[in-house]
Amino acid sequence: MFEMVDRDSLDGRLKRLLQLSLGYPGMVSLYFRVGSEFAEARSIRPRLRALLDQPRSVLDTRDLSREESEALRSAIEALTGLEKEVGSHPGRAAVIFESEEAEEHTRLLISDAVWDVGVAGRRPYIRPLVSAVESLRNVAALVVESRSADLIVDALNRPSKPQTFRGKYPRKSNRAGWFALDERRNQQRAREARRKLIDQVVRQLASEERRRSLDSIYLAGQEKVTNEFAKRMPENLGDKCFQIVVDTHTATPADILSQVLMAEQRRTRLAAEKLWEEVTAEATPVREGVVGVAAVAEAANRGAVRKLLISGTDPVSGWECSLCWAVQVHEGDCRLCGAPLVEAFDVLDSITHQVLNTGGQVSQLTAPIKDSKLRTVAVVRY
Ligand SMILES: [Zn+2]
Repeated sequence: MFEMVDRDSLDGRLKRLLQLSLGYPGMVSLYFRVGSEFAEARSIRPRLRALLDQPRSVLDTRDLSREESEALRSAIEALTGLEKEVGSHPGRAAVIFESEEAEEHTRLLISDAVWDVGVAGRRPYIRPLVSAVESLRNVAALVVESRSADLIVDALNRPSKPQTFRGKYPRKSNRAGWFALDERRNQQRAREARRKLIDQVVRQLASEERRRSLDSIYLAGQEKVTNEFAKRMPENLGDKCFQIVVDTHTATPADILSQVLMAEQRRTRLAAEKLWEEVTAEATPVREGVVGVAAVAEAANRGAVRKLLISGTDPVSGWECSLCWAVQVHEGDCRLCGAPLVEAFDVLDSITHQVLNTGGQVSQLTAPIKDSKLRTVAVVRY
């Protein structure tokens, strides 16, 4: 049975998956985007079968004992014939981990922010899952007008109903000009009403923040009004605030929310690109930066990576230690403990495991960084 999950439980699962390991490549991981078109339904079966090519090839090419071969074969068999079940979830992605020995039979459905891949390994293949967790954001969209504000919180692709806040503004005086004092008083009251409106919204945002940590807050509207709201945000919320200009008269809340989500994607992508550029800059590179698979693997083996950036989804083959999991790009013995190395389908995944296990962060850029042949860079702690 496939299970839909939110970010918190996905996070929890990821932590558990990081603990799992076998002594041989008997764990099958499978990521499969179902597609949203009816026409794609017919291709599901051949695509799923093709994804199991890598796990099958492990049966032929690796030196496995009879028990190990049998365990891997039964894991592969458990994943054939899934097309009917998978096909009934258009627009989603199926995530599967299967190993009888590890008692692992995960079947998840998530948003389709992953890529298709099937791998047999000693550990679960987690790069696409990390990417999916990263793409799930908690975002607040605050649509502000001069006399009211609407708040929509989009937690993990599930938008809340808009909450509307209205200020108590004085009626416009029709005696302006005649009684300048009245007019001044009215302006004073209007400012007061605006201040109360903003306070009310800030209180609500603070309570949303306590409920689930918000990644970003977008103030949408005319610049003059959004500026005023931004100025009055307390520091802990202000740091997460971004402003976007929208015409609140013509755009629906759904339009604005989709603009906000696009802005959030653009912003996180740009932040990662900027960091990448800083680390690789020839003129004044970041002092704590390491560049390229071999150097990043070495830093990950030391547990020194604070932030790992991976560009593109293709795997990079290499080696990992059969004993201590250290990652190496060249064949030989482990440089850390001397034990024999075993082939790794994707050392970028092995590095991801190392980094997450030592408290680092991983950012997976599914669209590769332009003009860069490097697959990975990292910022290290020391
Ligand atoms: Zn080792």
